[in-house]
Amino acid sequence: MFKLILSGLVAALLVTMLFTGTVAAHSIEDVEAMVAELAESDYYSPELCMSYLDYKQQRVEVITYTVSKGDTLIGISEKFGVSLATISESNKIENPNLIRVGQQLQFPAVTGLLYTVAQGDELTALAKKYEVDYEVIWFANSLDSKELAPGTRLVIPGAKMPDPLLQARSVSRGGTKVNCGFVWPMLGKLSSNYGMRKGSFHWGIDITGRVGAPIYAVAPGVVTSSGWGGSYGYMVHLQHKSGISTLYAHATKLNVAKGDEVSQGDIIAYVGSTGNSTGPHLHFEVKVHGRHVNPLSHLP
Ligand SMILES: [Zn+2]
Repeated sequence: MFKLILSGLVAALLVTMLFTGTVAAHSIEDVEAMVAELAESDYYSPELCMSYLDYKQQRVEVITYTVSKGDTLIGISEKFGVSLATISESNKIENPNLIRVGQQLQFPAVTGLLYTVAQGDELTALAKKYEVDYEVIWFANSLDSKELAPGTRLVIPGAKMPDPLLQARSVSRGGTKVNCGFVWPMLGKLSSNYGMRKGSFHWGIDITGRVGAPIYAVAPGVVTSSGWGGSYGYMVHLQHKSGISTLYAHATKLNVAKGDEVSQGDIIAYVGSTGNSTGPHLHFEVKVHGRHVNPLSHLP
């Protein structure tokens, strides 16, 4: 125990020296060497103890958040001032539009990744993988040793992560919010609204994305058709409860067949540009009892 405190004290001293510029070399190896050296001695001082506490206070906290009704991932990320990827990657959320009331999310208090150490993981390798300095991880987690125990949760501030949500951030919204439990059918930028467009009525919304990006079922339902739809290209039609049906057009590939039952968030097709389309996008329509409605009024 004393040894542990001592190693922390040494780390703290080094951190202090680092920030005051009194030490040039500050690798973890140096810290560990000093820890080993001092663990053998009886050296101890109140100053070091205070430094140790300072060091511990540099730790980046992990936030635990329970999703409540009306929450969106974007909203939560804005509330805590972290990136969307921070939350989605830390919780391995594949579809950022698919979060459930009561779901517990854990993520760092700064933009970055909450990473669970696997067998064989090394600090330097992790730092390299996520393109951060290993000292950053060292300080953020108040580590006392370079050895990482499997299962340890590490905060990796500024971790370079794929950001599938970069586009979702710019999705514009309109209409009245009606909570009927839909999730967004895909990630992307809203490129065309429901309503009059170049002299004709556009019965859905368009969301642009890359070819092959997944298209999700917005709600649980049954596939009433899946196939070629002329100007709609490859398309899927879903029937949901309460007389609601949804249509997903211009897909490059379909992932479901007529009669299939789907859950919310299931991948039903992949984005394409088939049929009457000028570029890869999803054309998405919603009908209530056979009448078109503005899809945006049903999306979270
Ligand atoms: Zn369209």
